[in-house]
Amino acid sequence: MPLYEYKSDGKGCEHCEAGFEVLQSVDDPPLEKCPECGAPCRRLFSSFAAIKSTRDVLSTKNLARHGFTQYKKAGGGHYEKTTGDGPPLISRDP
Ligand SMILES: [Zn+2]
Repeated sequence: MPLYEYKSDGKGCEHCEAGFEVLQSVDDPPLEKCPECGAPCRRLFSSFAAIKSTRDVLSTKNLARHGFTQYKKAGGGHYEKTTGDGPPLISRDP
């Protein structure tokens, strides 16, 4: 069964303001309320959110911000720089 993380939307108790995890079947409907105090809660993680964040991490903008240089294949053994501080073109041939 997947573990889902919930957090209160606004004012809640100690339990839900810090966020809490619930083991639920995929067929179970998402919780709408904190089981401790009944404050409105929302689910934080889903597989969709995880896929989206991975794509953001590998975006050109994010790579440049973290000091990486990214190249794309330009054919004939050459690679063109798409972002970063490295040389503008790298080649397989000396
Ligand atoms: Zn609560």
